[in-house]
This record gives sequence, structure tokens and C-alpha cells, in this order.
Amino acid sequence: MGIELKTSDEIAVMREAGLVVYQVLEELEKLVEPGITLEELDQAAKRETEKRGATCAFKDLYGFPKHICISVNDQVVHGIPGKRKLLDGDLVKLDHGAVVRGWYGDSARTVPVGKVSAEAHKLLEVTRESLEAGIRAMVVGNRISDIGAAVEAVVAPHGYGIVRDYVGHGIGKRPHEDPQVPNYGPALWGRGQPNPRLRAGLVLAVEPMINIGTHETRTLGDGWTVVTRDGKYSAHFEHTIAVTETGPEVLTRP
Ligand code: MG
Ligand code: MG
Repeated sequence: MGIELKTSDEIAVMREAGLVVYQVLEELEKLVEPGITLEELDQAAKRETEKRGATCAFKDLYGFPKHICISVNDQVVHGIPGKRKLLDGDLVKLDHGAVVRGWYGDSARTVPVGKVSAEAHKLLEVTRESLEAGIRAMVVGNRISDIGAAVEAVVAPHGYGIVRDYVGHGIGKRPHEDPQVPNYGPALWGRGQPNPRLRAGLVLAVEPMINIGTHETRTLGDGWTVVTRDGKYSAHFEHTIAVTETGPEVLTRP
């Protein structure tokens, strides 16, 4: 498809979608506590999204059966909310998308349930910090690879695995657009992977998925849930961000 740059009017609508995602995630984070089921969080995501005049982006996307992706502990992404109850010490990843007048917003955050281990807490903080570093690299004239290099520079000193099987992406009138946005520098990229310069009007979902152990993942028998190969915890943060002449603008927070 090639890369589609957005006008400021289009970015304004994406900001509306992004704000809905932010508000829904804020509401869900308040509900996260030991004993709540993922199904209850899924219903809350539907309710809070629709209450704001938006629709849930991931419902039926490529056949996904629920309204939000919820992944716990060693689950990396694309977890299907079901009857599982959250327990004290779990690390839960909420990944939500909303659509407003045909435009998408996409954001994820990792939330501790009750009291998590120091190891899990550090993973969460480093992953959050790596996303902020990636966002700061989103300036006109830089390249896509500068985003991943910035993420990797934060993560690498800790020896964590950076997931390679899933990457960030362009976003707009479709939930996943070109270009791909790896969370690591170009040394690990496949040959011939495009590395365009960042231009004003480019809107990206940047989403580091960081593992305590190996970067390798596998998909469970449900066909959706991605887990770490070694069973160690994973963290995930994501924002939808517009490149502007005056710097990056995060659309999925106020
Ligand atoms: Mg997402
Ligand atoms: Mg995404």
C-alpha cells in the first residue's frame, strides 16, 4: 500500500479515537485487582468504548472474538479474555483499539495486579521507559530505524529479550498500515526491509514487547495467545503517535 501521510484534520479525528482508548484504559486499570475475571474487563472495555460513541477496533479483526486483548504474565500479546481470574502478583497487559468515524487509535499498557515481584516491576518500568525513548526519536528527518534503536538502547543493558515476531506499525483508516516499526536497531532487520525517513503526517503505533528472558515466542493452541518460549514474564506498552514539524505528538494520552 505504501505509506499514507495524514492531514492535520485527519490527525484531529485520530486524536479523538486515541483519547477514547486512553480513557477506556484508565477505567480498566481502576478495575484491575485480584479476583476480577478477564471476561469482566472485556465487557467493561466494550461498555466504556461504546459509551464514548466509538467502536472496539479489535472485535472481529482478523476474526478476534473479544473486544480487547488481555495478556497475563508470560503471555505477550493477543490474549483472549475468558474466565481466568487475576491473581495477586500477576502482570496484566491491556491492549485496546477504538475507531471514531473510521479512524483508529491503538494503545497498550502493563498493569501490576496487587503486589508484583521486584523483577516484574523492573521489567514494567524499563518497557515503559523504552517506549518513551522510541517516541522521542520520532522527529522529522530521522528514520524508522532510529525508533527501534532508541528502544533497544534502553532495553539492552538489562539483558531482556526484545520480541521480534511482532512489531509496531502505521495506523490510520486501517488498524495496521505500512511501515513496520521494529523495536530493535537495523542490525537485526531482515535484508531489504524498508527504512523510510520520518515525515510530518506519519502516524505510527510504537509498541515494545519486552521479555525477562528469551525474545522467542510461540502461539498457543487457541490460535491467538502469544507466549514467551521460556515461560518468563513479558511487558508491553504502546502509543499511537503523530510525527509533526514541531515533534512527536502522542494521540493516545491527553
Ligand atoms: Mg495495540
Ligand atoms: Mg498496535
